[in-house]
Amino acid sequence: MNDRIKSPPFIRKRNKDWTIHSYCSRCFATVTDASSTAEVKAAESEHRCDPRLLEMVEKYRKVTRLVSAA
Ligand SMILES: [Zn+2]
Repeated sequence: MNDRIKSPPFIRKRNKDWTIHSYCSRCFATVTDASSTAEVKAAESEHRCDPRLLEMVEKYRKVTRLVSAA
């Protein structure tokens, strides 16, 4: 089980319309665009990384590493 991971790395930004945009820095999925931090917290606590997205991110990281090393 991966439930021992303490705090998932969510990144929050303020939208122009003052809603809060939260996304996951591991799978880069948008978690929510909510109007209150309580809603953001609730959405974040329900977020589970999509394994297919994680795989894509991992592949992308490998590709960019190769490119930057060249
Ligand atoms: Zn995620």
